[in-house]
Amino acid sequence: MSLYEGLKDVAKVVQQADNVELYRQLIDLCEQALDLQAKIRELTEENAELKKKHNLEERIQRHKELYITLEGEDCDIFFCSHCWDNDRKLIQLEKSYGESTCPQCHWSCIYDKIEYEKYKQRYYY
Ligand SMILES: [Zn+2]
Repeated sequence: MSLYEGLKDVAKVVQQADNVELYRQLIDLCEQALDLQAKIRELTEENAELKKKHNLEERIQRHKELYITLEGEDCDIFFCSHCWDNDRKLIQLEKSYGESTCPQCHWSCIYDKIEYEKYKQRYYY
């Protein structure tokens, strides 16, 4: 039996007893119980979200260059350390010719200097 169903059954019995004050108190308690149930649901969801973030936090691997990878995932997939540090969001970086750029905050870093220099020499000199 759900909380709502149980309260409804008790309310019927109290209503039949024809005691207005008892009925008012029961209605007040019902409202409090339903508010508490909503709060429990909200906190349960928040707790699940925090656990998910905490588990991610433990898998974060930092590097000398300003990107992060996730332990247990493909190490060629880079995420933005700037977005992670500011908002705890995992934003995958776009990689091109040794440079990676965040599509969200536009932070960029050079993760492969040799490839980056080759690209620069080919197109800029
Ligand atoms: Zn970013």
